[in-house]
Amino acid sequence: MRRTPLRFSLLLVLTPGLLLGGAALGWLGRNWVAGVMIAGTIEIVLLLSYIGHLQRTIMPTARDAARISHDRNMTRTRRIATRMRDLRSAAGSLPDALVLLDQAQRVRWFNHAAESLLGLRRPHDRGVVLQERLRASALADWLQAGAQEPLHDVTAPGQPSRNLSVSMLAFGDRQRLLLARDTSDLNRLEQIRRDFVANVSHELRTPLTVIHGYLELLDPEDVPELAPVLSEMRAQSKRMGQIVEDLLTLSRLETQDQVSDERVPMRPLLTTLRREAQALSRERHQIVVEAAAEADLLGSAKDLHSAFSNLLSNAVRYTPTGGTITIRWERTPEGAVYSVQDTGYGIPANHLARLTERFYRVSSSRSRESGGTGLGLSIVKHVLNLHQARLTIESTPGQGSTFACHFGNERLLVPIAREHERESG
Ligand code: ADP
Repeated sequence: MRRTPLRFSLLLVLTPGLLLGGAALGWLGRNWVAGVMIAGTIEIVLLLSYIGHLQRTIMPTARDAARISHDRNMTRTRRIATRMRDLRSAAGSLPDALVLLDQAQRVRWFNHAAESLLGLRRPHDRGVVLQERLRASALADWLQAGAQEPLHDVTAPGQPSRNLSVSMLAFGDRQRLLLARDTSDLNRLEQIRRDFVANVSHELRTPLTVIHGYLELLDPEDVPELAPVLSEMRAQSKRMGQIVEDLLTLSRLETQDQVSDERVPMRPLLTTLRREAQALSRERHQIVVEAAAEADLLGSAKDLHSAFSNLLSNAVRYTPTGGTITIRWERTPEGAVYSVQDTGYGIPANHLARLTERFYRVSSSRSRESGGTGLGLSIVKHVLNLHQARLTIESTPGQGSTFACHFGNERLLVPIAREHERESG
């Protein structure tokens, strides 16, 4: 925009000159007042013309306003384009694969990691339907099924030694973003950890058995002054033995993908569980069985027995004398539930989510005193996972807890006695 300092200075210089000139002319003509008026008028005219000029030059016109707005828009557009470029280059260099899909599941964009992890190729894979591009892979099946839940440990397309974790995020107008992360290294580390725990447990088993055997041979009556020490050594070696056995059980469960599909008759199992609980309780508790469900389970009899008795042993150990423990086997619309309810110490809500972690205890002293290994609920969770079942825990401190195992209909069988009844009826 042009400025006019020169004209304004001219006006400033001219003003006193005009006034003096006008006054002189008036004095010469004996009418200085008229002279001053003439000079004033000339100056007003000049001033008005200057204001008009200012309006034309300094004040923005409609064209100026359009140009300013255009300039601003250009700056904003450039800024947005720079940000978009930065974002793309950041997304492009992520180690996780990103694939942008449109409403028809066609590939709109993908980053470099998607080339190595999913085998997509530039430029001819732009616009292809992803599910068709990944045909005959577990990922394609997952996409076909709607990709609702994240998929873990799936083999990368065309790369049998590579594992991926994939998830799908919805955004915008029915667009979706597929995220895939390479979990091969994590899996390898996890495998090393599992092998280490299994090997250590296995190595400890033999020396512990020997120590325990010798301790059993020692008779406290031979050395009465060492009797309390001997008894404590026996208890601790037994506990260590139990920890090692539980760790080995966990290692076995972790390496298993599936369980044997045998019939597990529930009626006899409930009777055995009750007898075991009574033996553990030594008449300190009332043990009740409510077996309303006429159903057997399909799975591993040994592992299911271990999980159910773990819950019962916890109920006995964490319920003070005089309490009641109720074992239930009930049908639900989704399947059946095995639950153990106690009237024991209960568990504060903030611990519930972590109870199935290895060695997680609400009270370490109470767990140790009662002979716990801290691995029982972890074993329960693994056994249930292998049976596609889930564990729920409800508890009120000071009132008691209910641990429930929920099995789906596909894990239920009609008991043989009932089948015979049906056939003969
Ligand atoms: P532990 O061998 O210590 O009992 P678990 O894995 O079986 O190990 O249980 C983990 C923790 O959960 C226990 O240490 C205890 O604090 C709590 N817990 C489990 N069952 C019960 C229960 N029925 N009542 C109260 N607390 C329980």
